[in-house]
Amino acid sequence: MNRLKTNTHMPAMFIGHGNPMNAITDNPYRDAWLALGKSLPKPNAILCVSAHWQTQGTQVCATSSPKTIHDFGGFPKELFAQQYPAPGAPEYAKMVCDLLPANTVTASLDWGLDHGAWTILQSLFPQADIPVFQLSLDVNLNFQEHFNLAKQLASLREQGVIIIGSGNIVHNLARLDMQGNTPDWAVNFDSYIKNALTSGDELALLTIANAGEAANLAVPTDEHFLPLLYIAAVKHGDDTMQFIVDSFDLGSLSMRSVIFQ
Ligand code: ZN
Repeated sequence: MNRLKTNTHMPAMFIGHGNPMNAITDNPYRDAWLALGKSLPKPNAILCVSAHWQTQGTQVCATSSPKTIHDFGGFPKELFAQQYPAPGAPEYAKMVCDLLPANTVTASLDWGLDHGAWTILQSLFPQADIPVFQLSLDVNLNFQEHFNLAKQLASLREQGVIIIGSGNIVHNLARLDMQGNTPDWAVNFDSYIKNALTSGDELALLTIANAGEAANLAVPTDEHFLPLLYIAAVKHGDDTMQFIVDSFDLGSLSMRSVIFQ
């Protein structure tokens, strides 16, 4: 394999993806992703941990040509017509299997790129020329177990792999507000996470119940939050951290995004 030898490491980032329509409309999030993409080094591959791939047991997508998955309903035809034809990264998927203890992860040829991945990759890497592969979220793991698993993948960053977590820190679809009014609990939980990230407080990220009732409302189900733990876990000691986006969409979606590099 023609693998880039990097003296340093590739960035790791958590992107709040929000509404799939962000991929094809003019909006500040897409603008931020486009600008971020232009600032990134060219990786050998991209590993994406998306809120939208949950499985029994962890899986890694090892296909050489991942299909674009339109895993949503009720959106315009234009969104269903979107394709992100990047190649897969089977050799890097094998590397993931090798980094984790036996029987921790299964290579899968079933998946591809769900909308948590392609709606942001379209802006980050518009040319779709970087190999991309996804890692699933095992529904049976708790926060600490997800974090511990992800920690073992940190060295991928030295292998030229950009690691992206795609979800939302605050994600409550039942509380969307089309006027865009953000409730206090959403602001409070987002601030709790912002402070935890800023101070490098991993324990605060792993024990969000300490944020009180706000945590129940902000994280009614954990799949959109978990990708953040994967990024916090692959952080290197000498990384600098920067927030890319820090606003809310539709009231109850925190679009806060963060990069470690
Ligand atoms: Zn989502």
